[in-house]
Amino acid sequence: MNFRRIATPGILILAVVAAAFGWIRFVAHPKPVACGYCSRPLHANSIVTAEIDGKRTQVCCLRCAITEANQLRKPLRVITVHDYSTGAAILSPETAWYVEGSRVMPCEHGVMHMDEAKKPQTMVFDRCSPGTMAFATRQQAEDFTETNGGATISFGQLMSEAHYQ
Ligand SMILES: [Zn+2]
Repeated sequence: MNFRRIATPGILILAVVAAAFGWIRFVAHPKPVACGYCSRPLHANSIVTAEIDGKRTQVCCLRCAITEANQLRKPLRVITVHDYSTGAAILSPETAWYVEGSRVMPCEHGVMHMDEAKKPQTMVFDRCSPGTMAFATRQQAEDFTETNGGATISFGQLMSEAHYQ
């Protein structure tokens, strides 16, 4: 029958295309894995959704978003943050508490910078430093600074570091 001779290869092609799409969408790239600003890996407990100049993106950490906004001279909107101790999403960042300047850096450095003599260079600037993380409650933030150093600050204090609001 003519219909079967046409339909069978058609269905096979559709199945192959659907499988390829599914593999690319859900297996190879299940969700964004790199920071929209610096391309460092995203971590569940420091990931931030930020908006600069109307463009929303997933960012590796709060400090990276503040640095980006200041470099672009644009206002920063923080849409969501994640609790550093639990990884839970905090949908209203203005209610969260923040720690900066502790010994912990959420974004580690994959590449060591070397000078011409192949000696490691001292880091003078890093867009994700000082490390800045979010906590659902002030108590959690203060517990964190007790072990790791740093200062507990409010959302308002944090956002005063973004200079183009
Ligand atoms: Zn980043």
